[in-house]
Amino acid sequence: MSDRILEKLSILADAAKYDVSCSSSGSKRTNEGGLGNAEGMGICHAYTEDGRCVSLLKILLTNQCVFDCAYCVSRKSNDVRRAAFTVREVVDLTINFYRRNYIEGLFLSSGIFSSPDITMERLVRIARTLRREENFHGYIHLKTIPGASDELLREAGLYADRLSVNIEMPTKESLALLAPDKKQEDVLRPMAFLNESIQASRDEARSLKTAPLFVPAGQSTQMVIGATPENDWQILKLSDGFYRKLNLKRVYYSGYVPISNDNRLPAIGTPVPMVRENRLYQADWLMRRYNFTVDELVTPADPFLDMQIDPKLQWALRNMHLFPVDINTADLETIQRIPGIGLQSARRIWEARKFRKLTWEHLKSFRIAANRARHFITLQGDGPRKDLTPLQIRSHILAGAHSKYTANHSPQLPLF
Ligand code: SF4
Repeated sequence: MSDRILEKLSILADAAKYDVSCSSSGSKRTNEGGLGNAEGMGICHAYTEDGRCVSLLKILLTNQCVFDCAYCVSRKSNDVRRAAFTVREVVDLTINFYRRNYIEGLFLSSGIFSSPDITMERLVRIARTLRREENFHGYIHLKTIPGASDELLREAGLYADRLSVNIEMPTKESLALLAPDKKQEDVLRPMAFLNESIQASRDEARSLKTAPLFVPAGQSTQMVIGATPENDWQILKLSDGFYRKLNLKRVYYSGYVPISNDNRLPAIGTPVPMVRENRLYQADWLMRRYNFTVDELVTPADPFLDMQIDPKLQWALRNMHLFPVDINTADLETIQRIPGIGLQSARRIWEARKFRKLTWEHLKSFRIAANRARHFITLQGDGPRKDLTPLQIRSHILAGAHSKYTANHSPQLPLF
């Protein structure tokens, strides 16, 4: 690789690291003799030192940008080294890296050269070249450019496994403050367009086997957390709307990282704790996989997730009248809601229960987090202590002070 390409790579891969929405799961693309293969269970995930998920070729086409979003390292008023790949260079890098087994897909975003359409057209050209000329069947995730035309989005959808349109900020007001060149309509309109096109393509595929794929891994979005004052209830309500109304696959939460001294932003030195990002992901997971509603997790009156305990435990402690749950008689959904019991463990318990009455001994093998679960379970008459308040249970769990407690109830149960 030439020094010139290496230098561009170092600038444009570094600029891309702030983009967290690079999960590649959920796409199936059949390879009929070409190069690469996108598997259903995801392709290539890696984590940078600060815990962000990256794919091995995760780059910007350019970090030049005519916009001036306060939270972005590539904004036009920021004094950073600039670079831009050509279409050919990105194609060659992808193919070369793939052949060397460095990557299994491409995650490509970009600053805005001179207009959204000019930039989007280049992104589309890269994807088209990879698919049509290089016969590349690996995973492609393209970031769409706000304000790009529907025609370009439609074409991008024919080549990309996943498209994302970044909402950026939880509210219109915050977007206007920190990204004055962007309008919320420029994000919501393409999201709605993609949703309609994806649904239409799925309908077509049901009746016509040869119907072309259109964004088979669906669309996602990303929002910056902590640069503006929105609370977790507002953030999760927005995500919930995206999942229910626009069928988004994922919403990614990107804790604001102070990268410049723009006075529109919170003071440098106060990055959003990684734990807030983590709690939002946990709450998001509970909404998508456990059927929790936003209002069960946070409310307008109590709008922030607890940073010390996970949202499921937080919910359970607020709803102690629903516990303890008898593991041998409760329905599956109720078992799934017990803190310390995940979807798989709940399913195992549910299956095993068909053949025998379960005991603490049986639960040993189901990989539950017993230190949490024990406060919410009854098993063959053996239940939790009744004298503990929710606050005391919370303290017990936080302090890990369950060994004494365990001795009273289930001495054989290991601490997970
Ligand atoms: S448009 Fe994108 S690349 Fe440009 S400043 Fe805004 S966030 Fe950064």
